[in-house]
Amino acid sequence: MTGDDLQALARSALEEIAGVADQDQLEEVRRRYLARHGGSIAAAATQLARVQGEERAALGRAFNSAKGAVTEALERRQTELEQGSWEVGLSAEEMDVTHPLHPLRRGHQHPVARTVREIEDIFARLGYLSVAGPEIEDDLHNFQMLNMPPEHPARDGHDTFYLAGDGAGWLYRTHTSPMQMRTMLAGQPPFRIIVPGKVARRDNPDPTHNPVFHQVEGLCVDQGVTVADLKGTLEYVLRQLFGKERGVRLRASFFPYTEPSLEADVACGICLGEGCRSCLGKGWIEILGSGMVHPDVLATAGVDPDRYSGFAFGMGPDRIAALRYGIRDVRELYENDLRLLEGF
Ligand SMILES: [Zn+2]
Repeated sequence: MTGDDLQALARSALEEIAGVADQDQLEEVRRRYLARHGGSIAAAATQLARVQGEERAALGRAFNSAKGAVTEALERRQTELEQGSWEVGLSAEEMDVTHPLHPLRRGHQHPVARTVREIEDIFARLGYLSVAGPEIEDDLHNFQMLNMPPEHPARDGHDTFYLAGDGAGWLYRTHTSPMQMRTMLAGQPPFRIIVPGKVARRDNPDPTHNPVFHQVEGLCVDQGVTVADLKGTLEYVLRQLFGKERGVRLRASFFPYTEPSLEADVACGICLGEGCRSCLGKGWIEILGSGMVHPDVLATAGVDPDRYSGFAFGMGPDRIAALRYGIRDVRELYENDLRLLEGF
């Protein structure tokens, strides 16, 4: 074997190394050229032992050069193959961040909650503060301080859930009006508040009644507040809620804690005044009770009725939501039927 033979072997080894596709093929090439037994380049080592002098030195250099070149090529290719398999692995585990997700189910506010928020927003623009009050009240705040002493006939309209207790007449509040009292007792005029919250009465459920329902109470007390302010406020608010086209009417009414008293009706959203099951044939739906705060109530709350006057109102967001969204039966709002609730 000559130096030229070794060079030729090295060249062909390098070509093969460049062409291998995986570690097994690489190992096979290595064995064929460099294995101590049977490797074609390694075979030159045994030949070295048989030659002498200049020839031996030349063959030794050729052998070292060929072996070194092939060894280096094997290592380089080895590294390339490892790198390649790492990249193949990476691309197999690749995550497509643009792949669409399973569709998310988005929740939304309950129609009543949404209506309460809208009412709060409308009154916030008029400078009213939204306050919360206790749902469990005593007879004093729920009735007596609002001109409804025991045996007062107006109590009949408030079929009350009473709670067992210590004789203070604990009850589930029948309206949010007690919070008017608590607000006035706790401060000095002017007052501009609304009180959204749950109330309860022992009503038989029907399309416009549910035993537990919501109210938004409002109170405005200042010097020189008149019925004109009340009417202007109610008209503004109802137009904001129902739009200018929907019929609105105010009519005289009676509440023990206001004088004079007014009720506001809105044309039925289903029949627009014709009369249908939803409005019990009336064509109009009572939406709001209101009036000028009775001077006795102001005095009871520690507000001088000779100096201050005010109006109060209470409205039902459940009924308002039913009217605005065309729900025929307010009871549907509480049945948690997702097919209905998701329709909004
Ligand atoms: Zn109707």
